[in-house]
Amino acid sequence: MSLSEDMARTLTSILVIEDEPAIASALQIGLSYEGFRVEMAGDGDGGLDLAQQRQPDLVILDVNLPGMDGWEVCRRIRSYSSVPIIFLTVRDEVSDRVRGLNLGADDYIVKPFNFQELLARVRAVLRRHGQGLEGKLLSFEDVMLRLDTREVTRGGAPVELTARHFDLLHLFMLHPREVLAKDRILREVWGYDYEGDSNIVEVYMMQLRRRLGDPPLIQTLRGAGYALRLRP
Ligand code: CA
Repeated sequence: MSLSEDMARTLTSILVIEDEPAIASALQIGLSYEGFRVEMAGDGDGGLDLAQQRQPDLVILDVNLPGMDGWEVCRRIRSYSSVPIIFLTVRDEVSDRVRGLNLGADDYIVKPFNFQELLARVRAVLRRHGQGLEGKLLSFEDVMLRLDTREVTRGGAPVELTARHFDLLHLFMLHPREVLAKDRILREVWGYDYEGDSNIVEVYMMQLRRRLGDPPLIQTLRGAGYALRLRP
């Protein structure tokens, strides 16, 4: 089994059924970055097919979809599965919320939404369904990263990391061997609104490399960024 297959197997999967490209792509990028395996569908029929084929751990479902609407998709998924479903919609009438919850949805998020809030709801619903981050592991070479306890080991020995170093390593372990540019790292780990010194990435990468020990696992590619890989 390759590393990517191994990772795909350990990641919690989310099916997003959403026809608005901007929202769909924001969810795909945001949820992938948070360590979820994300499947996308742009209409109800496609979403229903994917829900059956891929057996996701959670479904995020828009109500207004071309063709079959979200209510119907929810009803049909519920006819065979208890997978958690979160409705995502511009409607915010109480009657719609009641309708969604009566159809067996687990939560209801009104657009426009804040991504961090959506993420918190996703995690809460997964926890309620016993499909949280328990036991979710990422591995690269002899490094293991546990998402639930935020523990990292190398060769079985614990590696002490601050929250920021952990987030940095998590990002690299989601993209093994890939070159990540400094501005991307800054954006994904420190956030879009970070306005401090961009040398902070260099400082943290140096510290992370030191904490991970030898042989060095993080390579600096001058002018391009950093990559999680062993020196050839
Ligand atoms: Ca829509």
